[in-house]
Amino acid sequence: MSRFFSRNFAALEAYTPGEQPRDMQYVKLNTNESPFPPTERVSEAALREARRLNLYCDPACTDLRQAAAALYGVSPQNLLPVNGSDEILYFSFLAFCDDAHPAAFPETSYGFYPVYARVNRIPAHTIPLKDDFSIDYRDYCGLGETVVLANPNAPTGMLLPVWQLEEIVRTNPDNVVLIDEAYIDFGGESCVPLTKQYENLLVTQTFSKSRSMAGARLGFGIGSEALIGDLNTIKYSVNPYNVNRMTQAAGVAACEDNEIYMAQCREIMATREDTVKALERRGFRVLPSAANFVFAGTARLPGGDLYRALRRHGVLVRHFDKKLLENYLRITIGTREQMERLLREIDTILETEGTV
Ligand SMILES: *Cc1c(COP(=O)(O)O)cnc(C)c1O
Repeated sequence: MSRFFSRNFAALEAYTPGEQPRDMQYVKLNTNESPFPPTERVSEAALREARRLNLYCDPACTDLRQAAAALYGVSPQNLLPVNGSDEILYFSFLAFCDDAHPAAFPETSYGFYPVYARVNRIPAHTIPLKDDFSIDYRDYCGLGETVVLANPNAPTGMLLPVWQLEEIVRTNPDNVVLIDEAYIDFGGESCVPLTKQYENLLVTQTFSKSRSMAGARLGFGIGSEALIGDLNTIKYSVNPYNVNRMTQAAGVAACEDNEIYMAQCREIMATREDTVKALERRGFRVLPSAANFVFAGTARLPGGDLYRALRRHGVLVRHFDKKLLENYLRITIGTREQMERLLREIDTILETEGTV
């Protein structure tokens, strides 16, 4: 730390992204990316715009808002495109949380929530999961705080039904309820339709996981015109050109190819079900997942040991060195071939290092 660094952030613990190692070719199952490349139409759209990078992009993202609004069944004024949904989360903590509106979220959830609270100096109210890793929606009803929930939750993959989320939204009428739907396309039901009915509901989505655009950085906030207006105030105070020219064009093309991406999501879901069975046959406990990853652990080998052994064998998964989570691995669902490789390496490792 330099002597110039603000005291405000001296104790800040930054978010740790999943590794993106360059030392060798891994089977990469650690950051929940899609194993499928973007469609031809998406790559072509980005390339075309690459020739015009001398010009600023459209700060209003007009074409993209139009295309994404049609995709989500809302109006363009109910939607804000952002530089990855991480950005809309950051904007939302700025816009809708303060001392009078603390941020409430599960103790075990997306690692960015506590970081955004700390960096904005917002009081955080963390609520433990139940013993089975589930979220009890009643913990969030009538809280009178700004509620932030990932649905499905991370890193568990567990899904709440829409009626429970609606109860949370309905019973916190004077606070924003943010539902982070980064993984909703892998089998969950979206809360987007409810945004027409509840002015305090903000839903965030991303093209990173289900639409093969993690590297392009594109996410959306969807909500009432008033909420989107507030978020625009933040955006135009921070970074008006937040979604670059290539990503805007790629995003429009991805909306046009939505059928292809939804078919790929179904393929991932089928692979997920087979992977769950295969892991259970090997003695793993696997949490019920509605995401493009599974959270799984076995008493045969501590999570950290299995993570490191898999890494040595060329397979990267995510391990969280935290109480409650340390015996589990978060494993992204990739292609069939990638999952077969994972299972082969697990078998080899458990044969040599594991207990029966
Ligand atoms: C991946 C992820 C995001 C952020 O994705 P972006 O790439 O920034 O769009 C947000 N929330 C959760 C729970 C995630 O897992």
